Amino acid sequence: MRLNLSDAVKWASDGGYRVLIQVPDALIPKVREIAGEFERNGIEAKIWMGGNFGACDTFDPRIAGCDALIHIGHAEMPNLKLNYPVYFHELRDDIDLTGPVDEALNEIEAPVGLLSTVQHVHKLHEVQRFLKDKGIEALLGSPTGRVKYSGQVLGCNFSPALMVKSKVNMYLYIGTGRFHPLGVAMVTGKKVLALDPHTGRHEVIEKGDRFLRVRYGLIAKAMDGESFAILVSIKPGQERRDIALELKNKAEEKGKNADILVMDRISPDALLGSGYDAYVSTACPRIALDDYMNYDRPILTVREFETVLGIRKEWAMDCLL
Ligand code: SF4
Repeated sequence: MRLNLSDAVKWASDGGYRVLIQVPDALIPKVREIAGEFERNGIEAKIWMGGNFGACDTFDPRIAGCDALIHIGHAEMPNLKLNYPVYFHELRDDIDLTGPVDEALNEIEAPVGLLSTVQHVHKLHEVQRFLKDKGIEALLGSPTGRVKYSGQVLGCNFSPALMVKSKVNMYLYIGTGRFHPLGVAMVTGKKVLALDPHTGRHEVIEKGDRFLRVRYGLIAKAMDGESFAILVSIKPGQERRDIALELKNKAEEKGKNADILVMDRISPDALLGSGYDAYVSTACPRIALDDYMNYDRPILTVREFETVLGIRKEWAMDCLL
């Protein structure tokens, strides 16, 4: 993983900024080194230790007595307007992708849509050329909204996959973890070959019955509830106050009690003992989909709560635009 901060240091130096630096958890062991790099160049630097989940999760540096934010790890969200200067230092992984793709060629049914996260997205064109040489047509969907690069997917937005959906038989997702490829399968209904370029391991992920069983189980439990906590996060790229208000009104029309609870980081501990029958997260959809087992009550996405209220019939992924 590359961590050459010279461009970020130059940006801060040119702007004459005192900087607040946000790092992903994996880089916490390197915070002294990172701060040192700025300070050696005469830049006053502080480290934000409140977490860094995505470009949706920037923190206002002025609250910490700084002028600008250095956000390390994620690509900027083009449609997210912030009223303070931010430098997004993406983390890129230069591992070769064509070797692992070559090993998985037999699993690919052309035409295929290519997808990845920001760590590998700069290498997708190389993979596309490699596949073309093998006679396999590979397509890259263009970015929209909060997505910056062709073929890039977020846990809350799969628009490049949807962009090429009608033209592909399946997707090739290159990256780690199951959440992103499962999300693509759920949103598009097509199968996804998930390839981990570090281990070379690959598996086909399809629209998941087990996943849906869990979600419908939580929806069914929430249907018996009378009181709902509608959770709003103040993180700039997760805040959906208007949707929360809409849901509260709709719940009340159906005779349910609903309150809006505002917080920065939504966590099981923050809600423990609050006494509601179920929670509805209007923030990052992964909170409900990936972390539900840690909550003492069912925690649903916006779309799932619409099912509870009888507004929506079929399960749908909650995507942020
Ligand atoms: S809202 Fe969630 S999935 Fe989307 S970028 Fe932020 S942390 Fe990632």
